[in-house]
Amino acid sequence: MGDAEVLKNIIKRVRFYLPFPFPFSLKKKIPEILLSLKEEDLLQMERTQDKFCHQCGQCCSETSFVDISRSELNKISKFLRVTTQYLTETFQITKTKSHLRIPADPCPFYRDLECFVYPVRPQVCSTYPMGAVLKRFRENKPFILSNCPGLVDVMVDFIIGKIEDQVIHREVYYTP
Ligand code: SF4
Ligand code: SF4
Repeated sequence: MGDAEVLKNIIKRVRFYLPFPFPFSLKKKIPEILLSLKEEDLLQMERTQDKFCHQCGQCCSETSFVDISRSELNKISKFLRVTTQYLTETFQITKTKSHLRIPADPCPFYRDLECFVYPVRPQVCSTYPMGAVLKRFRENKPFILSNCPGLVDVMVDFIIGKIEDQVIHREVYYTP
């Protein structure tokens, strides 16, 4: 699903969940809200992300690589009781400027629809999707990750809260 379709889906869902008539066009309002998101908004969404995870495994099965640190590799090797050299060779782990990179698609630790290193999974996994969203946001890149249905739910929930605040604010202040 591309970003335009994700946006359409978000608009449809917000319209469905908010039964009252809007004093503005959702097609304009929602992109406006998304464009004006601040880091603190994304941090607020991060606090609710677990509640919205669909446990669909797409972040493990559809990712093309997983970046980890040296200490994360050490933890995984201890957990699996193998050497880091064994892991590096078996999974063809390479070095980038700042990380070690595990080629994925799917992630080699994803078996039978489960992560078999879950207790020591890298931070990039435990903080997904908002960790990835925040990273892209700070790098000034488009940040809706369309392969994560949980992220769409997080965004919908946040936008609903924002719109409710605005509509209630208008009703309180503009009702004669
Ligand atoms: S893709 Fe998103 S919703 Fe699916 S398991 Fe990963 S974080 Fe959860
Ligand atoms: S390490 Fe585990 S959680 Fe992370 S991508 Fe691989 S299977 Fe998924």
